[in-house]
Parts: sequence; C-alpha cells; structure tokens
Amino acid sequence: MKDCIFCKIANKEIPSEIISEDENFIVFKDINPKAPVHLLVIPKSHIDPVSSFCSSDEEIAGKLILKAKEIAEKIEVSKNGYRLVFNVGRDAGMEVDHLHLHLLAGKPLKFEF
Ligand code: AMP
Ligand code: ZN
Repeated sequence: MKDCIFCKIANKEIPSEIISEDENFIVFKDINPKAPVHLLVIPKSHIDPVSSFCSSDEEIAGKLILKAKEIAEKIEVSKNGYRLVFNVGRDAGMEVDHLHLHLLAGKPLKFEF
C-alpha cells in the first residue's frame, strides 16, 4: 500500500534492523524500543489492523502469533517470558495501520496504565 511505512520496510524501501524473514512475514527491531527486546512482527503484504478483521483473517492472525512464538524461542526469551501486544485504535496509541504484533522482553515488564 502506498505511503505505508511497514510496507516500505517489508519492500526494503526504507532500512530496518531485520531479525527474521520468510515468505510471508518479516520481523524487525522497533525504532523506539520500550523494553530491552522490542520487535515487530508483520505480514509482508499489507493487512489492515485488528479493528478491521473479519473471519477470513483468522488464519493470518494465528500465523502471526505463531511466528512471534517462533522468534521468541529463537532469541531465547521464552524461558523468562515475553509479552505480545496488538495496539488497536487511538486510545491504545496505534500509529501504523499495517497489522503488527509487538514482541517485548528482556526484563520483568510492568503492566500499569
Ligand atoms: P503502534 O503504536 O502499535 O502502531 O506501533 C508502531 C510501532 O512502530 C511503534 O512502536 C514505533 O516505534 C514503530 N516504528 C515506527 N516507524 C518505525 C521504523 N521505521 N522502524 C522500526 N519501527 C518503527
Ligand atoms: Zn502496509
């Protein structure tokens, strides 16, 4: 999608620190990390955020979570734990309209608002 920053990252039109890539997904470091480990897991093709999901998006949602789990195991944060976050809409602070899952880890994570 034109003017989508995550499409540009997926297409290598703008640089990012890529951790993993396969046919369907790309995983890269968040530019403004909120934890010692802060990665973004995105589908390579443009998919709208969770707020636009319908039943046909079940498969991509499941695969996205499984990819995050696979990466958490690969970078060895599974034992201590990690957090997966979808920010959805304005109150959650969502900035980018391309489906993405945050993977946060590397220290005990607070959960307060
Ligand atoms: P969200 O608030 O859920 O929409 O998250 C979007 C995330 O993308 C934020 O945590 C940003 O720091 C991150 N971000 C924005 N631009 C870039 C970029 N060029 N490279 C890596 N991460 C980015
Ligand atoms: Zn996009």
